[in-house]
Amino acid sequence: MPTPARVVVVPGEPGPLQIHEVNLPDPGPYQVVVKQFASGVCHSQLHQMHRPRNGAAQVLGHESTGVVMKKGSAVTHVKEGDRVMVTWVRRDAASSTRAPESAAIELGNGVIARGNVFTWADITIADEQYVVAMPSDVRTDVTAIIGCAVMTGAGAVCHTAGVQKGQSVAVFGVGGVGLSAIAAAAVIGANPIIAVDLDDTKLDFARKFGATHGVNAKETDAIAEIGKLTLDETESNLLGRPVQGVDFAFDCIGVPKTMEQILGAARSGSTAKFPGGTAVLVGVPQTDVTLSARDILMNEKKYIGSLAGSCNPERDFPMFLRWYKEGDLDLDALVTQRYRLDDINEATTALERGQIFGRAIMEF
Ligand SMILES: [Zn+2]
Repeated sequence: MPTPARVVVVPGEPGPLQIHEVNLPDPGPYQVVVKQFASGVCHSQLHQMHRPRNGAAQVLGHESTGVVMKKGSAVTHVKEGDRVMVTWVRRDAASSTRAPESAAIELGNGVIARGNVFTWADITIADEQYVVAMPSDVRTDVTAIIGCAVMTGAGAVCHTAGVQKGQSVAVFGVGGVGLSAIAAAAVIGANPIIAVDLDDTKLDFARKFGATHGVNAKETDAIAEIGKLTLDETESNLLGRPVQGVDFAFDCIGVPKTMEQILGAARSGSTAKFPGGTAVLVGVPQTDVTLSARDILMNEKKYIGSLAGSCNPERDFPMFLRWYKEGDLDLDALVTQRYRLDDINEATTALERGQIFGRAIMEF
């Protein structure tokens, strides 16, 4: 029997987001129907909304919590009534040989809206590979942001970069992803942890998550400031300049300015003694950027990308939930705004205007 659901749709033609009443089909063998508690509202969805759609409607959202309503016959890791998290990367890609199915939602009049997963809906249907089991004794509202924001930010620090205790870190952009990166760096024992943003209030907020310093890049040269905080005059590079900069600089925004700045902020190497630091691109770039090849060579720096924090959700989500339970990842503070499904245009407008402090969620 089909399941009636209310789903946010990006129309094929320019215009505000719409809410459609649809009938979700019964799950295929590998699909799960999830009645949702909450979903995160992420910057990636703004990018998707603004992309030319050439008449194709789309469904959105890629992090949520919910409870399994129905499951396909081949789904074995969750059952009806189980609490779950929905995410946009495969929960255990290494052990799966089957390509996940993307969702296709019939909107009526032959119009089909597509999306890999969609969580901007009171009920969703997803391939089992995007559905991760969660215990029943944790909150189901703020944990909705584990499926993208936490995975992307914290994973970049723990997995992609592999930051170690005592290493220095700078995080550019302290929204939901950047604050998750800072919290992970604090769990590991990185020091210093330098938050970089354009707003003093956001920088103060970042201290709650473990930032030891805040650099306002609107008022000061962020690279020079990070250099001062990390200067080591006992070491120098080939050009005779003292070693400065952080072991790892993360760009959680992805605009040209920050994509360049993370390279400059990464520590210079000491020739023949130790290599330079690593710039880690986490935010989704909307354009290319020119980088200093000379800086990379002379200082033996690395510039790497981090997609979904190199996470394996099946392995990592329980760890993030544990951090939350133990007070190391303050999701209650990280979720700063709450909306209803009907307020989705209000939520995306606030996000676009930079009015979301940490991360916004929608509750159903
Ligand atoms: Zn996202």
